[in-house]
Amino acid sequence: MELRLYDTLTREKRTFVPLDPGNVRMYVCGPTVYDFAHIGNARPVIVFDVLFRLLRHLYGSDHVTYVRNITDVDDKINDRAARDFPGLPLNEAIRKVTEVTEKQFHDDVDALGCLRPTVEPRATDFVLPRADGKADMVTLIRQLIARGHAYEAGGEVLFDTQSMPDYGALSGRKLDEQQAGARVAVDAHKKHPTDFVLWKLSSDDEPGWESPWGRGRPGWHIECSAMSAAYLGDVFDIHGGGLDLIFPHHENEIAQSRCAHGTSVMANYWMHNGFLQVEGEKMSKSLGNFVTIRELLADWPGEVLRLNMLKTHYRSPIDWTLKGLEESARTLDDWYWVAADIKGEQPSRAVVETLLDDLNTPQMIAALHGLRNKAASGDEHDRGQFAASLRLLGFLSESAAEWNGRKQQASGIDAKQIDGLIADRTAARARKDFKESDRIRDELAALGVVIRDSKEGTTWEIAR
Ligand code: AMP
Ligand code: ZN
Repeated sequence: MELRLYDTLTREKRTFVPLDPGNVRMYVCGPTVYDFAHIGNARPVIVFDVLFRLLRHLYGSDHVTYVRNITDVDDKINDRAARDFPGLPLNEAIRKVTEVTEKQFHDDVDALGCLRPTVEPRATDFVLPRADGKADMVTLIRQLIARGHAYEAGGEVLFDTQSMPDYGALSGRKLDEQQAGARVAVDAHKKHPTDFVLWKLSSDDEPGWESPWGRGRPGWHIECSAMSAAYLGDVFDIHGGGLDLIFPHHENEIAQSRCAHGTSVMANYWMHNGFLQVEGEKMSKSLGNFVTIRELLADWPGEVLRLNMLKTHYRSPIDWTLKGLEESARTLDDWYWVAADIKGEQPSRAVVETLLDDLNTPQMIAALHGLRNKAASGDEHDRGQFAASLRLLGFLSESAAEWNGRKQQASGIDAKQIDGLIADRTAARARKDFKESDRIRDELAALGVVIRDSKEGTTWEIAR
């Protein structure tokens, strides 16, 4: 079976054919680093991590290049820097904010079982022409001006959207239908309301770089055109992000990259994840209905958050609920119970096949439940296949001791005390004192511990 992916640009599911199977290339828009990421921001990170893992499985781990940028130049960052470090020069304050936030982001998404991308370029390293000759923003803007796709006006360099006949194809918006709305600023100096900023002048108290258009800073969209070209070339395979990035961000990335390079496409597959919602509304900073990854990690193992995310297909909205989390936690406890510490080489073909159909993770989880039942009643091979499948997908990264240890800590249970009670119960059973052994079982239950007897002895775990 071949991989099929839904492409937002052509609005259809198509067979995935990489430009070069020896180097499959994917770009995903990364975080703007000024504050803790919320669990909605984790959705694209987890979804595209599953795709990255699948591509590595299909093409070999050395044959996939995954680039996810870090946006470290943004007015929100400047505001945060001025607020949090009023005594420091702005540049130093900005560096502090972005470094601390980048580290928080890495710690959070590591805990969610996400692999690091192959490269994580920072926008500020790609503003000016580079010693290594990789693509940069100033050079791209010069190319756009030279090719008649950009103009200087009102202290800005703007992209001329009317210079591109099929501007708007990704979002399905036609130029003449575009009303200047909340998301498109109306400015007298623009030739058309949809023209967008490539470069803007900075005041003395804003970060800036010397450029042919004066000391200024780049617009948001141009950074991804530069960093994707720097690592993946002018045309590459997959470009991803959340639904809210289709317009204007991805539309404008396409305009910049295609017009600067003179190509007919920027990426061959455009993939967008749906929103994570709370009571029917998109989780977002501005609505204030968000919970950070960090807050959730205080209460739940990262793999529980990951599983909970993957229960819904990536293009559908997810309603994030406590009930869903509790159910995901019970599932993972059970999977660890069956497969922790089991070695396995070969993941199940059936599980991989669910992902080949546009990352059908709900089907993937159904397939895992099937494997789990086979593993529980089957032999070493079945258990190995179940364990290998879980690990391929970013689960089962902990040992049984780590998994149970965390729960013990969280529940305040003393493992030594439990082991002692179990030894007492085993001794009581050996001398056929069933009244005493039943009493100890009840005592364990009251402590929130369930036990399981088998030929090998008695094991226990914390009840959820
Ligand atoms: P932002 O920090 O808003 O630029 O978002 C970073 C990434 O998270 C982008 O790919 C967004 O599309 C995505 N994103 C933001 N909010 C949500 C949400 N509630 N559900 C799913 N993805 C989101
Ligand atoms: Zn981007």
